[in-house]
Amino acid sequence: MSEIFLTDTHCHLNYIPIEEVEETIARADKNGVKRMITIGTDYGKSVEAVNIANRYDNIYATVGVHPSDADGYKSTMHDDFIKLASSEKVVAIGEIGLDFFRDHSPREVQERVFIEFLNISIDLSKPIVIHNRESSDRMVDILSSELAVKNNGGIIHCYNGDKKVLDWAIRNGFHISLAGNVTYKNAGEIRDMLKFIPLDKILIETDSPFLTPSAMRGKVKNNEPAFVKYTFSFIADFLKIAENELADMLEKNVKSVFNI
Ligand SMILES: [Zn+2]
Repeated sequence: MSEIFLTDTHCHLNYIPIEEVEETIARADKNGVKRMITIGTDYGKSVEAVNIANRYDNIYATVGVHPSDADGYKSTMHDDFIKLASSEKVVAIGEIGLDFFRDHSPREVQERVFIEFLNISIDLSKPIVIHNRESSDRMVDILSSELAVKNNGGIIHCYNGDKKVLDWAIRNGFHISLAGNVTYKNAGEIRDMLKFIPLDKILIETDSPFLTPSAMRGKVKNNEPAFVKYTFSFIADFLKIAENELADMLEKNVKSVFNI
């Protein structure tokens, strides 16, 4: 395992106490997780993500507004977001999208903010990181219409097994990212879809501090980037691919989607 180089394509280092960031990154490094993308979910968290990325060579950031935080977004923030998103270490716009499961923000507000950030991604020629929960129909409608003219690629983050979204993603060259929940006993729906994800579009992530993989569930308080290795081994085993072969593939995919 020591020679394997992994990227956690979606973590929230900006959600853990600042004094724990350094040791968390060091533990990831020790476990072969050599690169991390830390994800913004509102303006403040996006600034923190960029600040962390600026401190470490191997950390990159995304900036955006999570659908659950859509309510807090004001169009007066648009220019600040553009400025932040133009930072050198910002590799994507996100996470953005729709969440009709939690419904923390009104659906029409989620859709308006989502579309605003799709336009930012088009203006800045950056890929997007999509959050989609119980909202696949509207998701596919909006993506199909808003990205009809231009599409810089992107990622369906924490893929949930939905066929309609996977079909759209494959048709439009999007990547599919699998989180620790693919290892859960009740995740048959996600595992059933694994064989349909093209190998050149597959990514892995932790979504830490959430979604601890089965192997560590109950043993630790929070998930962390180091644990992406469990999701990695699980997928290699499930798809019957040698680990070094899968690692090479994932590395190619990371470079292609994030342009790094
Ligand atoms: Zn996330």
